[in-house]
Amino acid sequence: MRSLQTEIEQRGARIFELVDRHPEPLFSKAGFYQRLMALSMRDERFKVQMFRFVDVLPSLRRSGDIVQHLDEYFTDMRNGLAPLVRTGVRAAKIVPWISGQLLRWNVSGMARQFIAGKNPDDVMKTLRKRHEQKIGFTVDLLGEAVVSEKETDEYATRCLELLEHLARETDGWSDPLDDGTELFPVVNLSVKISALYSQTNPADPADAIAHLAPKLRPILRRAKELGVFINFDMESFSHKNITLDLFKALFAEPEFRDWPHAGIVIQAYLRDAEKDLVDLIDWGRARRTRFTVRLVKGAYWDYEKIKSTQNGWSIPVYLQKPESDANFEALSRVLLENESIVTAAFGSHNVRSIAHAQALGDELGIDRTRFEFQLLYGMAGPVKRALVEMGYRVREYCPVGELLPGMSYLVRRLLENTSNEGFLRAKFSDNVSEKILLRDPNRLVRGNPDSVSKDRHLLDGASLDVPPGDVYENAPLVNFAYQQSQEEMRAALRQVRARLGKKYPLVIGGERVWIDRTTASLNPSAPDEIVGDVAAAGIPEAERAVKTARDAFAKWSRTPFEERARLLERAAAIMERRRYELSALEVFEVGKPWAEADSDIREAMDFCLFYAQQMRRIGRPRLTQHVPGEESYYHYWPRGVALVIAPWNFPIAILCGMATAALVTGNTVIMKPAEQSAVCGAMLMEIFEEAGVPPGVLNFLPGHGSVIGAHLVDHKDVDLIAFTGSREVGLKIWESAGITRPGQRELKRVVCEMGGKNAVIIDSDADLDEAIVDSIYSAFGYQGQKCSALSRLIVLEENYDRVLERLLSAAASLRVGNPEEPGMTVGPVIDKTAYERILNYIEIGKSEATLAFQHQNVPAKGYFIPPTIFVDVKPNMRIVREEIFGPVLSVLKARDLDEAVKIANGTDYALTAGFFSRSPANIERAKAEIEAGNVYINRSCTGAVVGRHPFGGFKMSGGGTKAGGEDYLLQFLLPRVVTENITRHGFAPEETPLYRDEFRVRG
Ligand SMILES: Cc1cc2nc3c(=O)[nH]c(=O)nc-3n(C[C@H](O)[C@H](O)[C@H](O)COP(=O)(O)OP(=O)(O)OC[C@H]3O[C@@H](n4cnc5c(N)ncnc54)[C@H](O)[C@@H]3O)c2cc1C
Repeated sequence: MRSLQTEIEQRGARIFELVDRHPEPLFSKAGFYQRLMALSMRDERFKVQMFRFVDVLPSLRRSGDIVQHLDEYFTDMRNGLAPLVRTGVRAAKIVPWISGQLLRWNVSGMARQFIAGKNPDDVMKTLRKRHEQKIGFTVDLLGEAVVSEKETDEYATRCLELLEHLARETDGWSDPLDDGTELFPVVNLSVKISALYSQTNPADPADAIAHLAPKLRPILRRAKELGVFINFDMESFSHKNITLDLFKALFAEPEFRDWPHAGIVIQAYLRDAEKDLVDLIDWGRARRTRFTVRLVKGAYWDYEKIKSTQNGWSIPVYLQKPESDANFEALSRVLLENESIVTAAFGSHNVRSIAHAQALGDELGIDRTRFEFQLLYGMAGPVKRALVEMGYRVREYCPVGELLPGMSYLVRRLLENTSNEGFLRAKFSDNVSEKILLRDPNRLVRGNPDSVSKDRHLLDGASLDVPPGDVYENAPLVNFAYQQSQEEMRAALRQVRARLGKKYPLVIGGERVWIDRTTASLNPSAPDEIVGDVAAAGIPEAERAVKTARDAFAKWSRTPFEERARLLERAAAIMERRRYELSALEVFEVGKPWAEADSDIREAMDFCLFYAQQMRRIGRPRLTQHVPGEESYYHYWPRGVALVIAPWNFPIAILCGMATAALVTGNTVIMKPAEQSAVCGAMLMEIFEEAGVPPGVLNFLPGHGSVIGAHLVDHKDVDLIAFTGSREVGLKIWESAGITRPGQRELKRVVCEMGGKNAVIIDSDADLDEAIVDSIYSAFGYQGQKCSALSRLIVLEENYDRVLERLLSAAASLRVGNPEEPGMTVGPVIDKTAYERILNYIEIGKSEATLAFQHQNVPAKGYFIPPTIFVDVKPNMRIVREEIFGPVLSVLKARDLDEAVKIANGTDYALTAGFFSRSPANIERAKAEIEAGNVYINRSCTGAVVGRHPFGGFKMSGGGTKAGGEDYLLQFLLPRVVTENITRHGFAPEETPLYRDEFRVRG
C-alpha cells in the first residue's frame, strides 16, 4: 500500500496538471489591479499605503478628495517606485474629476474580483454562470460591522430577502453532481453572527445568545421551509465560543433538531480547534442529526495576533504557517473519520490541503460526493476548474453587497493574496515548485514553535534606540472570552458579596486603629447595600499619621532601592493572586463593569512593576561627564512624607500608582482614598502589609476631605502631595502648598492631575464603523466617569448627518444596568451627589441645546443616569465648558478642520483628545495641533496603558506629569550631585565607572 504522502503527491500533481492547462495569473483581473498587486508584493510600504488608500476610497464622495488622498498616500514614498508614483499623482492632479472617477472605477473593479454582486439580482448572474460550470454556491451578505440594533435588524431583514430571492431564482436547479441534494441543498447562505447583535460581549455569552437566537429563528425557519442550507461563518476568536454555543443551542431546539442543513466553521489556525471540533461531533451524535463543518485555516490571523499581543493575552492562533496547515490536515482526518454524523466542507485554496483531504477520503473509503470543497469567489479559479474536472463537489463562497460595507472583506482578501506565507502567492505569483508546495507540513514545523520574540522586553534599561516603554512588558488583561475567566469572576462576586458590610480600620504605623467615626461605602447599583464601613480619620489621627510617617522616613529613605522595588513586585504578585476578588470589589463599590474593573487591577499591577523597573533604572548614581581627575555623580534623594489623595474612579490603580511612586523612591506615605472607594483603599493597604511594607512607611488614612484634607495639605511635615481629582480641589492644593509654614523643611512639591473636557473630532473621511463604536465607548464606558472620557464630539459638517444617525442608534443599543451582570457597558454613577449633579447638567443641556437622545431602558433603583446626547451645541455653552463626569455627550458641528481644531482646543482643559480620519495630512495636523496630554488617533480616547501611554494633561488638567511614564518618578525625588576631585599629586585613575553603588548612610 502506498503511503498517504505518496497519494497526496499524486493527487496534488494531478491538480497542478489540470491547473496548468488553463494557467491564470494570481489576480484574474488584468491591468491596473494586477500591476498594483505586483508592486504590493515587492514593496511592503507601498502595500500598506495601497491598502489604506483602497480602504478610504469608497467613503470619498468628491473626485478632488480622491486625488488629494492619492497625493497624501503616495507622493511621500521614499522608495524606488516614488518617481513613477509621483508622476501618476501629478497627472491625476491636473484633471481631478477624470482621475477621481478613474480611480474609483478601478478600485471598484478590484473589489468586483472578490465581490460576486452588488445586490441579490446582480449576484444571480454569477451564480448562473457557476451553475453551468457545475460549481455550487454559498452566498454571504456583506456588512458585518454593525454598530446598533437598528443595523442588525436591517441585516436580518436583508438575509431573509436574500433567502427568498435565491430560492425563487434557483427553482428547478439540479445538484451539480446529480446526486446529493439531500446533503447539499442548492441554495446555501452563510451568515455572520456579529452582524446580528451589536452588543456582543465575550464576557456574557448568555446575553449574546438570548439576543441572537430570536433574530436567527425566523431566518432558520424560512430556510427550512425553502430547503435552504444555513452556515454560521466563524469570525474573530472573541466571537468563537458564542457562535459555537449558539449553533448548538439553536439546532438542539425541537423545531430544528432533525434538520440536517446546518453548518458551522472550524478554524484550523486556532490551537483549541480540535477540542471544539470533537465537542461539536459529540453534540451532533447526541442530537442524532447530520450537520456540516466547513474547515478553514482562518481569516483573522493578523488581527488575532495584534489584539492578543496588545492585551497581553496568550495568542490563540498558531504562529507558524505549517502548524496551521498540519492542524488542517489533522482536523480533516477527524471530520472524515466521523463522516457518519458530520459532512465535511474543506475551505481552502491550498492544493496540498485539498489533495490531503482527497487522499484521506479515499483511504477511508468515503465517496467523493459526500464531502465538498469550498473556495472563495475570485480566487483560485483554475483550482476550482480542476476539482470539477476530477469529479469533486465544489462550492464557491460568493459575497454580495456594496463596496463600503464590504471593505473589511476586501482588505482580508487583499492581505491573503499578497501574504508571504500564502499558498496562492507561492503558486501563482512566485512560481514555487510543485514539490515544495506538496511537502508534508508536519515536517516543516520548527522547534519551539510557540516562542514569540520577547527580546526587546529583556533589555536592561533604556537607550536611545529603544523606546522607554519597550523595556517593560505589561501585565496581561483577563480575557473574558474564556469560560474559566467568566466562572472565576462569578465566584469572586459571590465571595465578595458574602463579606459586604465588614468594618475597616485605619492603619497607622502598622497598627490597626479602630475609631467610632466611620463612613459607610455604598453600592451605587443598590445604595441600600453597604459595601464596607470604613473608619474616618479626624485631626488627631491625621497628626499621628504624619508623625509616624516622618519617623519612618529616616530608615525607609536609606533602604536600598532594590528592596523597595521588590516590595512593589511582591504587591503586584499578590494582586495577581487576588485579581478576580479585587475586580469584584470594584463592581460593588464603584459600579465598574467587569472588564473595566479588571483593567483597573491590571493598571495597578503595571504601576507596581513599571515603577520598580524605573527605580532600578534611575536608582544608581550616574556619572555626569567623563572628565579626567574628577568624578561627579548625579543621583536622587527622596523628598520626605508624601500625602496621596486619590479619586474613586480608578479606585485601586490611581491610589496604587501614586503611592507606589512615592514608596519606591524612598518617601513614606499617607494614603487617603476617596470616601466612595475606601474599601478598595483598605484592600490595597492589606496587600502592601502582606507584601511586607515596614510599619509607618505606608499609612492608611481614609477620612473626609473636608475634615483632614486641608490639615494634611498644609502640614509642615508633609513634603509632597500627589493628588488626582477635581479641578476645584486640585487648584486649592496647588495654591496652599505654595505657602511655607513655620518649621517646614522643604518647598512642597505637588503632583496634580485634574479633570478634562475631552474632545474627539470625526473627519469627513473617517471610518465610521470604527469612529462610532469608539466614540460611544469613550463617552459612555464606565458611565463617562473617566477623566479621559469623551464629552465633546466634534463632527465635520459633511459627515454630520450620517454620523448622528448611526451614533444615536448605537447609543440606544447600549446595555445599561447593574454591572454585577457581565457585559454591561453602562452602570451606575458613583453616588447621590454625582447623580443629582449630572441630572442637573442634563437640565442645563435641555435649556441650552437640543436633547437628541436619552436612553429609555435604565434601572429604577440605583444611581443610573440614562446615556444622553445633545446636539445643536455651541462652544460657549455650559455643557461643553464644564466637566460633567457622567454619561452626557455633546455633539458639535464644525465647518472644516480648522474650526474643529479650534473648538477642540477652546477649553480650559488639555487631558485627552481623539481624531478619526484617514487623511495622512489631517492626521499629521491633529498630532501637531490638538492641545491635550494624550492625543489618540483612530481609537478611543480612554484606556491608557502604563508605559505605553504615559498619562496626564496640562492647562487646567494637571501639572504636566505623566503617570506611568519614564520621568514620573522624578517628581517624587530631589536630584543631587556629588563631585570628588580624584587627582592626587597630578595622578588620577584613567577610568571612571558610568554607574556606582548607592551612597549609603551608616546606621
Ligand atoms: C469557502 C471559504 C469559506 C471561508 N469561511 C471562513 C470563515 O467563516 N471564517 C474564517 O476565519 N475564514 C474563512 N475562510 C477564509 C479562510 O480562512 C482563508 O481563505 C484561508 O485561511 C486561506 O487558507 P488556504 O488554505 O486557502 O491558504 P494557505 O495559503 O494555505 O493558508 C493561509 C492561511 O494560513 C494561516 N496562516 C498564515 N500565516 C500564518 C502563520 N504565520 N502562522 C500560522 N498560520 C498562518 C492563516 O489562516 C492564513 O489565512 C473561508 C475560506 C473559504 C475558501
